Amino acid sequence: MFWLLDQLLGDPDRIQTEERERAVARRPRPDADGDPPELECRVCAYRGPERYCPDCLADTMRPPAQRR
Ligand SMILES: [Zn+2]
Repeated sequence: MFWLLDQLLGDPDRIQTEERERAVARRPRPDADGDPPELECRVCAYRGPERYCPDCLADTMRPPAQRR
């Protein structure tokens, strides 16, 4: 947790810059390659963009394959 370290060390200018960069990074990029982020439940094989499987009600969703 580097942001916590930054806050402890006290460097407000850098913290603000990093906050801004994080906000930009969080925004979805329109030029990202067309595939929506589809995940697959490793328990029941449900597929969808959700982080939590709606059937298992648990954090079991994983990327179906590492394509990189
Ligand atoms: Zn499931």
